[in-house]
Amino acid sequence: MDAVERLPSTQGPAPGEKQYASLALVNTEFALPGGLYDGLSDADAAHEWLRERGLIAARTRVGADGIRRLLVLRDTLRVIFTAHDAGERPTEDALGRLNRTLATAPGVRELTWTEEGPALTLHHRAGAAIDVALALLAEEAAELLTGPDGAKLSACGARGCTRLFIRAHASRRWCSDRCGNRVRAARHYAGHGRAVTRQAP
Ligand SMILES: [Zn+2]
Repeated sequence: MDAVERLPSTQGPAPGEKQYASLALVNTEFALPGGLYDGLSDADAAHEWLRERGLIAARTRVGADGIRRLLVLRDTLRVIFTAHDAGERPTEDALGRLNRTLATAPGVRELTWTEEGPALTLHHRAGAAIDVALALLAEEAAELLTGPDGAKLSACGARGCTRLFIRAHASRRWCSDRCGNRVRAARHYAGHGRAVTRQAP
């Protein structure tokens, strides 16, 4: 494996990131043996991420406080997702922060009448763009945890990798082929290590 391949930023999205922006948000920061990677390292990167996810409009500018709150939500979701994966209860602090984020732009439902009859439409209360974006991320995270994919939310089993992913099947333990290969290579070397030890006097 050469140095370029080990750069964490070359890692593709983990399974589940495409469906769940909240999971993708958590995974914008992760450690790999190659180092720590932060996909939201400055305001421009954060804007780009929010735009790519359709969470803010192209021309929306988010203030420094909004970016800081996005990073706080990322940390909060990591605490909650990790606790869930471990079968534990998240801290009250993290739960409180998530619920306060939901409350900043709560969903408002409206009954409308179409040609087919009554329909229920979900609107978001008018507010700062970042409030709505953060509330949408928090809502989606809550839906992920309480929905059928909640039980499939997992931490990558490769040592040193801190990414989370949605397991497509029960035996999947790694967030990427690269992590799986790394684990297999480590086992291979460990096996050689033991063989050498056994031969020692
Ligand atoms: Zn991994």
